[in-house]
Amino acid sequence: MTAAAESTVTLDGRFARELSELAVPWQAEEAPQPKLLVLNEELAGELGLDAEYLRSTEGVRLLLGNHVPEGSTPVAQAYAGHQFGGYSPLLGDGRALLLGEVTGTDGRLRDIHLKGSGRTPFARAGDGRAVVGPMLREYLVSEAMHALGIPSTRSLAVVATGRPVRRDTMLPGAVLTRVASSHLRVGSFQYARATENMDLLRRLADHAISRHYPEAAQADNPYLALFGRVVATQAELVARWMLVGFIHGVMNTDNMTISGETIDYGPCAFMDAFNPAAVFSSIDVGGRYAYANQPVIAEWNLARLAEAMLPLFNEDQEQAVAPAVEALGMFRRQYSDAWFAGMKTKLGLTEAPAGTTEAEEASELVDSLVALLKDGPVDYTLFFRNLSHAARGNNRPARGMVLDLAGFDAWVERWHDLKPDADLMDRVNPAYIPRNHLVEEALAAATEGDLDPFTRLLEVVRAPFDERPGLERYTEGASEDFGSYQTFCGT
Ligand code: AMP
Ligand code: MG
Repeated sequence: MTAAAESTVTLDGRFARELSELAVPWQAEEAPQPKLLVLNEELAGELGLDAEYLRSTEGVRLLLGNHVPEGSTPVAQAYAGHQFGGYSPLLGDGRALLLGEVTGTDGRLRDIHLKGSGRTPFARAGDGRAVVGPMLREYLVSEAMHALGIPSTRSLAVVATGRPVRRDTMLPGAVLTRVASSHLRVGSFQYARATENMDLLRRLADHAISRHYPEAAQADNPYLALFGRVVATQAELVARWMLVGFIHGVMNTDNMTISGETIDYGPCAFMDAFNPAAVFSSIDVGGRYAYANQPVIAEWNLARLAEAMLPLFNEDQEQAVAPAVEALGMFRRQYSDAWFAGMKTKLGLTEAPAGTTEAEEASELVDSLVALLKDGPVDYTLFFRNLSHAARGNNRPARGMVLDLAGFDAWVERWHDLKPDADLMDRVNPAYIPRNHLVEEALAAATEGDLDPFTRLLEVVRAPFDERPGLERYTEGASEDFGSYQTFCGT
């Protein structure tokens, strides 16, 4: 490619510069036979990157970390984390690299990061690699989340490496090029705290404030303000997951961002039938990260963040605890407010002033609907979409989905009294989500070399609220023989 095209890619190294103790300079493993499987041209545009260039031989090598633009230094990031409740003092990017940061056309700084780029000093027993299926899953689900309006890391590309990778069987290797507003995690703070280097911990917090919550710098206690902002954004984020039936699957503290973006799509899934106990991850034997547990786990993870940040809140440990507990104590209310407000919108009810009988009636309607949904196998996504027909006067599609018909009829009558707005419902209740059976079908075909089902599904979930004729198949749940769905961590 021409020098002019390359000059469009300039990577900063701000993280590596400001937090060198958390950054190990490293090189990506060379891919024997790279093949670009999918490129996010829209995102490339937002980042000010030339899609044409990214499709070129050199551009694809850049997406793999094999071509490093002059002046940039890829690094593996160090972090710690609680995995399924157990603490690991050293995790870090075992198979990932931060290539550097780019400033998008909107002026925002974003990380360009690789997953599956080979072993690093943090690899432990891992092979440093990733395979086509799971990398395409992350691409698809993260882009679906973004289209749903839920904060998420984005996916710029998946490149097949041409190298077979050993899992249960031999599978085609791939690298995901990921974009995030940063890769700061709860686990980053846990790691910094464990080093007992107070200067590092403070620089990490300052870096987070500057990148994500600049207004916190003006607070009386900026670090407490930072913590409070993370609590609030995570409460909002997890409420958004719950409202669309998303199950992250591995809410370890190293998979929870400071920015409030959803990160690390491993064994994640969207719930089909409404079931608060739903677990999809094959490695989550105890159901720790079940659907209904997600808010509790988020709060637990934030308590770990508070512990890590404690010396920043106040030099006197005793004095630090009370304000931290108070800030963390906001989580439940913030979560519940966000969830109730979201549920009311899903029911087409515009927010009534708190304390009014309308507001109370709306909250009761939410509670009794959840009871109805729990009662029988009801497809969560399709039910809300069918309910907008009921708002327009046709109860049949939603009514046909529940077991307790008398209960439903009584509920609908009360709901109609509040004059639900069907158009509002259609703007917040997706018609299309990445349904598990469709994702599996698409990934299985892609692993065999046929990208068509993946490309079609991606197109569908990119416009989740815009119901189009001919796509009925994408609105339906799995047939019964799909069985109980599990995703596997053999990523
Ligand atoms: P994850 O479950 O993807 O959040 O990863 C948890 C930790 O395991 C992180 O430190 C990863 O870098 C590391 N890891 C996961 N898979 C591999 C692999 N194949 N090779 C090396 N490290 C890995
Ligand atoms: Mg992770």
